[in-house]
Amino acid sequence: MLGLGLDPELVLHENWPEPEPAKGEARLKVRLAGICHTDLELVKGYMGFQGILGHEFVAELEDECLIAGQPCPAGTRVVGEINCAPADFSGSAESRRHCPDRTVLGIQGHQGAFAPRVCLPAENLHRIPDSVSDPQAVFTEPLAAACRILEQVKIEPDTRVAVLGDGKLGLLCSMVLATRSREFVAVGRHPNKLNILTTLGIRTCLLPHSETVADLPADLRNLDVVVEATGNPNALTLACQLLRPQGVLILKTTCAQAHPWNLAPVVIQELTVIGSRCGPFPMALAMLESGQLDPSPLLEEVFPLARGLEALALAGQKGKLKVLLQIPGLGD
Ligand SMILES: [Zn+2]
Repeated sequence: MLGLGLDPELVLHENWPEPEPAKGEARLKVRLAGICHTDLELVKGYMGFQGILGHEFVAELEDECLIAGQPCPAGTRVVGEINCAPADFSGSAESRRHCPDRTVLGIQGHQGAFAPRVCLPAENLHRIPDSVSDPQAVFTEPLAAACRILEQVKIEPDTRVAVLGDGKLGLLCSMVLATRSREFVAVGRHPNKLNILTTLGIRTCLLPHSETVADLPADLRNLDVVVEATGNPNALTLACQLLRPQGVLILKTTCAQAHPWNLAPVVIQELTVIGSRCGPFPMALAMLESGQLDPSPLLEEVFPLARGLEALALAGQKGKLKVLLQIPGLGD
């Protein structure tokens, strides 16, 4: 089968072997997959991953499968959580994300979804509600990562929150947080991307290139919570400057490159720093189903898997939004 992955360079395999399901795994027919910033970092050498990439996907069951105790027939549309624990692991979904023996779909020791077939533990699967389209559902994984913030810090209507960064994840975090806080601001560098939020009635602020706090509106100070999602570790300094004493800094950026960071402001201001990664799929799917949030404006372009190299190159260009891969059936 076709497969887009690392060997160790990025390559489109013509004859990649079909994966065989391990104990407790279901085999899935992939329909649509999303290219994520993490994929671009993996191509640069982050995590040293080898094999088929892809962890954001929409698929259908190849065979009948039990999902959350419900028998689901072949053809049922599903999305899947990316952290795979061994078959004998009995912890919660949250503890599975941190299981020391886990593999991670398309990121660490588990073949990904940029191919017509992928295997995933049945317990990782979630049925997609009928009213949610494939192009919406393909955002479930990054949307769940945005929803993770709501599990980690209490956001009330009057909580003063900002997201720094208007990349794909930054925009999703903004959409999610704006559903909870009336005092929300998205800070970014790209007018066209901030515009997506403005259209939804969300307050935005264009960050001048100087990156000094003095250039930002005076009311953007003393915030309760700042989410750093710029993909650029340099933004940490600004993030700290925007927070009130004892405020909460949430880190969403993962980078292949290590970065020195002066922690003195964290100590002096007594900030709480929270790392934030994968999140709750059920919450993300509920938001999509209720129509509370529609990620469709984040779609940039759809490529067939056969043009996957081109798709990754486009996704890596500055300012591009979500690039999707349409995955053909075997023999199509
Ligand atoms: Zn991702």
